[in-house]
Amino acid sequence: MQQLNGKVALVTGGSRGIGAAIARRLAAEGASVAVTYVSSEAPAQSVVDELVSAGGRAMAIRADNCDAAALEAAVERTVEEFGGLDILINNAGIFPTGTIEGVTLEELDRTIAINLRAPVVAAMAAVGHMPEGGRIITIGSNLAVRVPWPGISLYAMSKAGLVGLTKGLARDLGPRGINVNIVHPGSTDTDMNPADGEYADPQRNLMAIPRYNEAADVAGLVTWLAGPEGRSVTGAEFTIDGGANS
Ligand code: NDP
Repeated sequence: MQQLNGKVALVTGGSRGIGAAIARRLAAEGASVAVTYVSSEAPAQSVVDELVSAGGRAMAIRADNCDAAALEAAVERTVEEFGGLDILINNAGIFPTGTIEGVTLEELDRTIAINLRAPVVAAMAAVGHMPEGGRIITIGSNLAVRVPWPGISLYAMSKAGLVGLTKGLARDLGPRGINVNIVHPGSTDTDMNPADGEYADPQRNLMAIPRYNEAADVAGLVTWLAGPEGRSVTGAEFTIDGGANS
């Protein structure tokens, strides 16, 4: 049985990587899915074409996470086209690197805008439409919890901020029966962090099971949280990182 029949989802950054895998998995469970992207129009459209040719409803919307009005418009368009919004997946993100001596104010502002402010903006726009049973699931990082190397303070800061957001929103929205959770992937094989990349082996060395996640592994956990079996889980953090933080 498809667990998300009749549900509508919006996945930010659904053109590639973890977001595309989440879009595919939610659609496989019967949800109508809108994905946002910023520059990858063709890959986003190809995800949509795949979902539509499998019999689902899907669309791609260009919405830069830096642009609050564009994100709000993406929420409104999803509601107009698909008749509501049940599931918001805050996934789009960037991975700035460099130690504090070299950080610029522009990088700081951009990281906060994309990784932290946008999930707040998307939630603000989405909650007005969300019925009881709604879900907000944010993609954090295991680096929000433990920082094993120098050079990732901006990223860790932005992802740690999402933990507080998740817990606060869970309290705000609990009375309305809306669940809010955060998933912390560890090393996951995407364009952001290829499993055969220069920095992959040091990451594997931190893990209890030294194997990168596939994006689909993260999507499976997110989809469980979005489904009926996740109804009692809220304000919670889920780490999926091969035991790197254990
Ligand atoms: P990718 O770089 O592979 O994909 C990033 C996605 O985010 C793309 O769809 C991209 O759109 C979108 N995006 C980037 N910037 C913006 C923006 N300004 N506005 C809108 N969309 C944007 O990354 P991953 O799939 O690996 O990462 C997804 C999430 O998972 C991120 O939040 C990341 O921090 C987190 N994560 C990833 C880990 C990993 O090891 N891969 C580990 C822990 C967390 P476009 O294609 O148009 O550029």
